Amino acid sequence: MNTETDYDIIIIGGGIGGCAAALRGAQNGMRLLLITGSRASHRRSRSQWVHNIDNMIGLNDGVITDQVRTSLEKAGFGPAAAHIAGEHYHFNNRRIIDNTLQRLERHYAAWTTILRGDATGLVRTPDGFGVETEEGIARSPAVVLATGIMDEQPHFEIIDRSGQGHGSLRSIYPFANRGVALYCIRCEGHLTRNDPVAVIGHSETAAQIAFMFHERYRNPVYLLGNGTAAALTGTSQTLCEKYGIEIIPNAITRFVSAEVGQLCGVEFGGRPEIKVRFALVALGTHRAYNDLARAVEAELASGDLPPEQRQVLIDYRGETSVRGLFAVGDLALRRDEPMMKQIYTAQEYAVRAVDSIDSRRRKAFREAALAS
Ligand SMILES: Cc1cc2nc3c(=O)[nH]c(=O)nc-3n(C[C@H](O)[C@H](O)[C@H](O)COP(=O)(O)OP(=O)(O)OC[C@H]3O[C@@H](n4cnc5c(N)ncnc54)[C@H](O)[C@@H]3O)c2cc1C
Repeated sequence: MNTETDYDIIIIGGGIGGCAAALRGAQNGMRLLLITGSRASHRRSRSQWVHNIDNMIGLNDGVITDQVRTSLEKAGFGPAAAHIAGEHYHFNNRRIIDNTLQRLERHYAAWTTILRGDATGLVRTPDGFGVETEEGIARSPAVVLATGIMDEQPHFEIIDRSGQGHGSLRSIYPFANRGVALYCIRCEGHLTRNDPVAVIGHSETAAQIAFMFHERYRNPVYLLGNGTAAALTGTSQTLCEKYGIEIIPNAITRFVSAEVGQLCGVEFGGRPEIKVRFALVALGTHRAYNDLARAVEAELASGDLPPEQRQVLIDYRGETSVRGLFAVGDLALRRDEPMMKQIYTAQEYAVRAVDSIDSRRRKAFREAALAS
């Protein structure tokens, strides 16, 4: 990276939001720097958990297999065509991100720089912003933050064979990222429609998710407090009774596996096991990666939460309270209406933000042309 270089836009975060912003910027012809994040920040991002996307039209293996099957049949490769028809090709975040980085490198390298590392600081300058990285400071009039959030994970006291307890997450890992331990009802809720499901959580939000399961799929639902009593409104308690949703406050001691990665039950201290095929984690946000926004005093949402859990407030363009600083993806929250934490939302706001920055850039260009 040339530390003297100015960019039209600097995008921080190489998940879906950052990659969508980078592709839009590159296709707009903007001189851009994409700072993708390091191995460490990738590991703690939500991107890494998305194994199989099937809530979006178009992102479906049928689109690929139908075309490939047709061309194999035309070319006389009947057995290969039959093989393809029976395959399932996962669309996961990692593949989409890798593909976007390849497209940027192959087609837009002349005005696109990709830095595989973390942004470590953000400061305001007279002309915009300076972004600190391990390779120096990069400057731009506009910055897009797409650094994401992380879900709170359930903590379990796992009892080993000798009866000793250990605090461990390992118990849920075999089920995570396989469409069994779920994190998003809008992405994966439909998988549960024929099976009993447990919602791990004790808040009103967790109860609302449990109600959605029951109302959509009529499946048996449990609400698992894992050692914490549920804090529900009177109406929600009544609804739990009406819907037959059992609230279990007991600590979880084990997830029971039918085969590798297949959940069949949950065990507790002090009460019988329940049979469930899915468990949805609904414990809220563990961390919003908002450090850079905080460094320039951008306004945050949800004043009742600790600063490190608060999303960054944006307007309809994706712009924060600091002019020229935008936030997109899971990190961002509209001040005037609810926003979903989904791939399509991240993409939409990435385009809104980058096109707004481009519009300002082109306006200046046009005014300079008229003045010359
Ligand atoms: C298990 C699971 C399944 C899901 N399934 C679906 C689904 O099927 N469909 C759907 O629509 N949505 C799904 N979602 C939601 C979806 O994954 C998120 O909405 C989406 O990943 C958000 O993208 P993002 O770019 O905002 O953040 P992320 O994808 O979390 O990316 C953030 C990026 O920022 C980088 N970063 C962080 N700090 C820095 C820094 N200081 N400098 C540089 N880079 C930094 C990280 O390395 C990371 O690459 C799922 C979520 C989970 C957890």
